[in-house]
Amino acid sequence: MPNLLDYDLAGLAAWFAELGEKPFRARQVMRWIHREGCDDFGAMTDVAKSLRAKLDALAEIRPPAPLRDAVSGDGTRKWLLDVGGGNAVEAVFIPEAGRGTLCVSSQAGCALDCVFCATGKQGFNRNLEAGEIVGQLWLANKLLGAAGGAREDENDNGRVVSNVVLMGMGEPLANFDNVVTALRVMLDDHAYGLSRRRVTVSTAGVTPAMDRLREECPVALAVSLHAPDDALRDRLMPINRKYPLRDLLAACRRYIERAPRDFVTFEYAMIDGINDSDAHARALVDLAGEVSCKINLIPFNPFPRSGFARSPVDRIRRFADILLDSGIIATTRRTRGGDVAAACGQLAGQVRDRTRRTRTHPLQTMEEVWS
Ligand code: SAH
Repeated sequence: MPNLLDYDLAGLAAWFAELGEKPFRARQVMRWIHREGCDDFGAMTDVAKSLRAKLDALAEIRPPAPLRDAVSGDGTRKWLLDVGGGNAVEAVFIPEAGRGTLCVSSQAGCALDCVFCATGKQGFNRNLEAGEIVGQLWLANKLLGAAGGAREDENDNGRVVSNVVLMGMGEPLANFDNVVTALRVMLDDHAYGLSRRRVTVSTAGVTPAMDRLREECPVALAVSLHAPDDALRDRLMPINRKYPLRDLLAACRRYIERAPRDFVTFEYAMIDGINDSDAHARALVDLAGEVSCKINLIPFNPFPRSGFARSPVDRIRRFADILLDSGIIATTRRTRGGDVAAACGQLAGQVRDRTRRTRTHPLQTMEEVWS
């Protein structure tokens, strides 16, 4: 039975056309589902009764089911969401003054195997459906009390979630079609109406897909860099062997020509003794000179058996100063949600690995993660 969360407006209109229904019906239902947070066709009062009954028999509105809900001391909230087959993914809500950011997962696990990332260590099971991706936003709005009811901390657009970042589990550009469909729903005025600048796709650097995204659905772009030279990046992020830095920077420059923002954000995890020396900073300055960018330093977030440590505070400060002194816009990300393992790179969910890695890393159990 089709899950109507899987469709963007064009897809929904096509599905309604098959039922012999007019496109405006698709718009109506789209608004009920995403604006009102409605999952009951019977409650869609301006939809003809006969159509409501038909929808009830033929379709469903099925978001991923929350298994766990953890609130950090800093207000960050993390949900573990069941996506079936023994897999669960995580979504994280990060409240800040004047905005609320939802960090969304795009895959159950991840195949890229970046050595410093908890998700990568778990292996890969499958791509999420579009409805499972946008369903995280649907659910967050509902659980945060945004749809249908006002809250004190809501933003200008009347919703608690004002920004979405695809920085959860998975590589969004390795699940291109479903991610783009979900993005279209996030941007659609009949649904969430988020501006392209408030929706960010983060990629480890799948360069051909960056070009496609630029053509098909340009939104803000973040690129996980983590190393200023190929030798180091090859070691930390195996994808670099396929798409090395020169290709990646060229793809960033092409992306910016069409992007809603005139820069890309480079994410750079500060890992003690690995990528955090003065020499690395200077190499990063050279590299940043090649593309309009901002650099976001992320203090490495440890997880059990990661084998890496966070750079000391002074080291991070010194590294940032070298960037800033060269005129580069660099910020250091405040770690949020660390006490519930909701920080960058800590999302592990539950993944039935299908990649049969030779190098496996038994990760923490669900109880370790969630208690
Ligand atoms: N696959 C995409 C989306 C994940 S975003 C990507 O790589 O961009 C999650 C961000 O957190 C990425 O920049 C990732 O490299 C970074 N990250 C992963 N593990 C981390 C860790 N342990 N500490 C800090 N940042 C980490």
